Amino acid sequence: CGIFAYLNYLEPRTRQEILECLIKGLQRLEYRGYDSAGVAIDADVEGKQIEIIRRSGKVKMLEDTIWSRQDLDLEQSFNSHVGIAHTRWATHGAPSEKNSHPQRSDLTNEFVVVHNGILTNYKDIKQFLIKKDHEFESDTDTEVIGKLLKHIHDNHPELTFRELVEQVIQQLEGAFALVCKSKKYPGQCVATRRGSPLLVGIKSKTHLATDYIPVMFSKEHRPRQPSTLSSNIKRSDTTQFCPLGEDKEVEYFFASDASAVIEHTNRVIFLEDDDVAAVSDGNLTIHRMKRTIDDTTSREIITLK
Ligand code: GLU
Repeated sequence: CGIFAYLNYLEPRTRQEILECLIKGLQRLEYRGYDSAGVAIDADVEGKQIEIIRRSGKVKMLEDTIWSRQDLDLEQSFNSHVGIAHTRWATHGAPSEKNSHPQRSDLTNEFVVVHNGILTNYKDIKQFLIKKDHEFESDTDTEVIGKLLKHIHDNHPELTFRELVEQVIQQLEGAFALVCKSKKYPGQCVATRRGSPLLVGIKSKTHLATDYIPVMFSKEHRPRQPSTLSSNIKRSDTTQFCPLGEDKEVEYFFASDASAVIEHTNRVIFLEDDDVAAVSDGNLTIHRMKRTIDDTTSREIITLK
């Protein structure tokens, strides 16, 4: 099972180039084992609609499905774009198209998410969301994440994407690496992990202005019960940080494993448990909800040899 995401702010890319990059990333993760695969990309240049393409079987079968789609404009060019991809090793729900990732919040693909790991409390969250009229379409544990993102967003539209993901992961128990994308937050991507591996790859034209990304601490805390999900959310204010200074010409990758990004860049950050990495407009920030005693206050941008 593996996660791969490709965020392009460097120079315009065609849909074909974006899809090729995502497929190749998944192929590099194939050795980890999987039974199905999928991608989510923008359906339009503004990122106002999201297209999900999924298949059970090998990445090659996903690839064949993608290239046989007559309705995808492969020449369409994107100045910036967020694409996420996944190979699944089923733990909850049989291998099938509907159980493949990306999983989604609703039929309009408002929020889409790829997940590696197991959520041990997904049944409680699912029950809560069903009571709130969310209709589930898969047998996965993962689906609660997309629906929780939408539920909290609908109640708290003032939250940034990163704040929203922070609210969601406070409700999750078990192991996860997640990458989230939304048509409500075009051009943005939020990734986080607890117990499953995830790294950020950074590729730029110019030399990076720093070898460290500061870790910022979000202030607020909330009760853990799903039944109180929509109460007590406070905003946390933060400054944006760009590792490139003023230079926003950059590509980011999220991956389960360095082998998936090494052909693009050797500059990577290995995320720690509960780090929330958010990319918006070419800026990368890393936040944490809580400061613990042995937390360092920055993450090193490592150069892989
Ligand atoms: N538990 C999730 C599922 O069964 C993710 C499995 C994985 O890590 O690929 O869909």
